[in-house]
Amino acid sequence: MRTVIERHGHSIDDQGFIHYDDQASTYERAEELAGRRLDRRRSYAIMDGEVLESTRWSQACSGCYDGHDIAHDAGHGCSECGYTGRRRNGAWVPLLNKEGSESNG
Ligand SMILES: [Zn+2]
Repeated sequence: MRTVIERHGHSIDDQGFIHYDDQASTYERAEELAGRRLDRRRSYAIMDGEVLESTRWSQACSGCYDGHDIAHDAGHGCSECGYTGRRRNGAWVPLLNKEGSESNG
C-alpha cells in the first residue's frame, strides 16, 4: 500500500503499549520537506520534520534457521514464521542522499 503518513508523537497507555499518533499526509508535503521529487510507488513517513521511506525485505526465519545465507535461504519452519521458513521485515529509513559524497566532519 502506498501512503504518506506524518507522525505527530506517541503515547504510552496503562499497559505499556505504545500508540503512535500517525496521520495521513501527502506526497506534496513530503516532497517539500525532502526538497526533491519522491517516488509515487513507495511509502513515506514524516517524523520530526524528516522524511523517511519504507523498506521491506524478507529473510530466513531466525527462529528455525541455522545456515549462513540468511538473505536467500529459508529455515525448516517453526510456529514463529508460520512454518514458511521465512519472515518479512520492514523499517523506516532516512532517504538516501543522491546528491553525492557526504563527509562526516
Ligand atoms: Zn521459523
